[in-house]
Formats: sequence, structure tokens, C-alpha cells
Amino acid sequence: MIEVDVTVIGGGIIGCAVAAEAARSRREVVLLEKEPRLGGGITSRNSEVAHAGLYYRPGSLKARSCVRGRRLLKEFCARAGVDYRETGKLIVATTAQEEPELARLFALGHENGVEDLALLGGQAVAALEPAVRATAALHSPRTGVLDAEGAAKAYGRLAGERGAQILTEAEVTGLAPERGGWRVAVRRGSENWSHRSRCVVNAAGLHGDDIAALAGIDVDAARLRLRWSRGNYFDVDARHGGRVTRLVYPVPPADGSSLGVHLCLDRTGQLRLGPDVEELPERREDYRVDPSRRAAFFAGASRFLPFLTLADLTPAMAGIRPRLARAGEEVADFYVQREEGDQAGLINLIGIESPGLTAAPALAELVGQLLVAT
Ligand SMILES: Cc1cc2nc3c(=O)[nH]c(=O)nc-3n(C[C@H](O)[C@H](O)[C@H](O)COP(=O)(O)OP(=O)(O)OC[C@H]3O[C@@H](n4cnc5c(N)ncnc54)[C@H](O)[C@@H]3O)c2cc1C
Repeated sequence: MIEVDVTVIGGGIIGCAVAAEAARSRREVVLLEKEPRLGGGITSRNSEVAHAGLYYRPGSLKARSCVRGRRLLKEFCARAGVDYRETGKLIVATTAQEEPELARLFALGHENGVEDLALLGGQAVAALEPAVRATAALHSPRTGVLDAEGAAKAYGRLAGERGAQILTEAEVTGLAPERGGWRVAVRRGSENWSHRSRCVVNAAGLHGDDIAALAGIDVDAARLRLRWSRGNYFDVDARHGGRVTRLVYPVPPADGSSLGVHLCLDRTGQLRLGPDVEELPERREDYRVDPSRRAAFFAGASRFLPFLTLADLTPAMAGIRPRLARAGEEVADFYVQREEGDQAGLINLIGIESPGLTAAPALAELVGQLLVAT
């Protein structure tokens, strides 16, 4: 490989969707993933929810890309044979004091263009989900769950069918501007090479800021330093499987740091709780779940899932969010930018935390437009 048109760094859902989009019109696209498989990063460690787009600030990239992305993702999964189920979701109030928040989210969702939302009273909730305790709820029937890693792999396959080269175990180790493009240094096993690329797309997930730094960006000055924030999950005993058929979320914490510990469903209908928010003081890809968190999970979820006992919960898995803002600070939007000046030809996607899975196809479209103009 001597020269390519587009190099995509990272083979998660974002990089794979971008590679498929770029390969639609570009002559030569290469995707480089440092791990042995596609979709094994953040993409394989999350709630796998296709969000409707309720929570995000109207007009923000998170809001726009989530609403559009969900529709595109559902269509794509149907075409590609990726498991996708429109389970629906309830955001539940457990006290009268929480109910005004449902009306606020209803209005926000409406402004964001989310379809089919409905406010339900306690009896209507009981009719839909008899095992859930709530005084009222916001029902989002379009919310779903999907095989996130399967979707990333399917985008990777589509990119390959469109002529892109997909290389795993290929780590980008250097980026230097060269003749209006970039020289990309790659390590693959014992092999090292560099190639010239007219454009580079940074979709490196947890390492998005490291890649930006490799390209010469002062990430602290540009406020692009990522903070890692772990989200832990607990499994609910299998005997409760199928007892609740929709995703159930509490009214989210006021600081916007998360959506609150919620009830997820895996694709077989088993129940799982999570994620919480655990700031990681140092960067370590440590996915062990501390069993002592169980009491906090139980306290949060038993408010709306009264059938739970403490003994029903066992540590399951964790994922790490690439955050541009700390809990308590204003929640940052996705950073998707075609850089200028010394970094011309570089498109950065940084801070792609939730709803990044849902938003992926819409963000890929956006990158496609930026590439046309690059
Ligand atoms: C706990 C949790 C729950 C979430 N729940 C949801 C949800 O329910 N719904 C939703 O829409 N979103 C959710 N998200 C967000 C969603 O999972 C992410 O936005 C999405 O998976 C990000 O995908 P990505 O491709 O950017 O990252 P990744 O999947 O991590 O892909 C980036 C890839 O880049 C590779 N890479 C890094 N550095 C290099 C390098 N130097 N060279 C080559 N390759 C490199 C990595 O190995 C990795 O595979 C959640 C996230 C978390 C953490």
C-alpha cells in the first residue's frame, strides 16, 4: 500500500459505518483496527439500546444524529440480517415529585422529532408491564435493542464489499502531515509500514484524543482530552427472564451524567441492570465489576422493580465511556470536525459516548459529506 484516499482509524461501530459510507464513492479506503476483531471495543460493552433521542439538547449533534441514526440503523439491521428488536421503553416516575420530569422529557423528545411518545398514568403502566411499579411513565415505543457488535461487523463487511480494505491487528502509531495529506505509520505484528492518505478519519473511541495528539493537536488546549468513565452492569437472576418486556429507565439524574441505572434486556429477554457512573482516575482498561456496588444497584432499581431481591443481582460486565466532560460539568456534545490549517485532511470524531451506537449511521453520513468537501 503506497497511497490511499481515506484511512479510517478504529474498527468500532463508528469506524465501520464511516468506512462503508466512504467506500460508497471513494476509490481507495482502508480501515485500521488495532485489535484482532471489529467491534470489540466500546461497541461490545454497552446497553445495546437504539435510543429514540429523548434526552439531548434540541439542535445538538447528539439529538440530530440519534434521531436520524436510529431510523437508519433499524433499516440497516433489517437489510443486513442483524438482530434488532423494537422493544419499546418506559421512563418511570415512582413518586409524584418525579412526574413533572416526564412532561419535560416528553416536550424535549417532541422537539427533537421523536415519534409516538405517550405519557401514561400508573394504571396504563401496570397494564403494559404488571411487574413494574410506577405512578406515571413516558412510553417510547420506537426504542429498541440490537446486536451492536454484529452491526459493526456488518458495516465492516459492507465496506469490504464496496472495495475498502479492512485490516485488523493494525495499529496506527504515527500521523504526519505530508503534501496536503497525511503519512500514516502502522504496526501490524512484526511488520511496520507507512502509507500516504489524502484524508484520515479518527474513529478511535477511547483513544480518539491520543490519535488527535499524534496528529499534532494540543488536546488540552483544544479541550479534547478524554476522561474515562466506567459503567458497570449487574445481571438479574434468570428466573425473572421475560418478566418485564420493555426497557425501564428511572427519571434521569439532574446532572445529566447518565440516564440512571436502568433495566436493559438482552436479546433473549434476560434482565440486566446498569450502567452506573464510576469515574476512572487513571486510564486502565479494567472491566472488572466491584461486587460491593450491588447494594446501590438494588436500591436504585428496586424502587421500580419491586420483585427484585438483593440476592438476584450478580456482577456482569462493564464498559468505559470516552467523555469530554466530567460528571457535574455541562454535558459535552459529540465532537465531529474537519480540521483546518496544519491538520487539514483530518476528520476527528471524539467523545462519542452514548448515544454513539444509535447515532453511528448518521455520523457516518456526516463524515461522508465532510469527505466530499475535503
Ligand atoms: C456503559 C456504556 C453504555 C452505552 N450504552 C449505549 C446505548 O445503549 N446506546 C447507544 O446508542 N450508545 C451507547 N453507548 C455508547 C456506544 O457504545 C459508543 O458510542 C460506541 O460504541 C462508540 O463506538 P466507537 O466506534 O467510537 O468506539 P469503539 O467501539 O471503541 O471503536 C474504536 C476502535 O478503535 C480502535 N483503536 C484505538 N486506537 C487505535 C489505533 N491507534 N490504531 C488502530 N485502531 C485503534 C480500538 O481498538 C477500537 O476497536 C454506551 C457506552 C457505554 C460505555
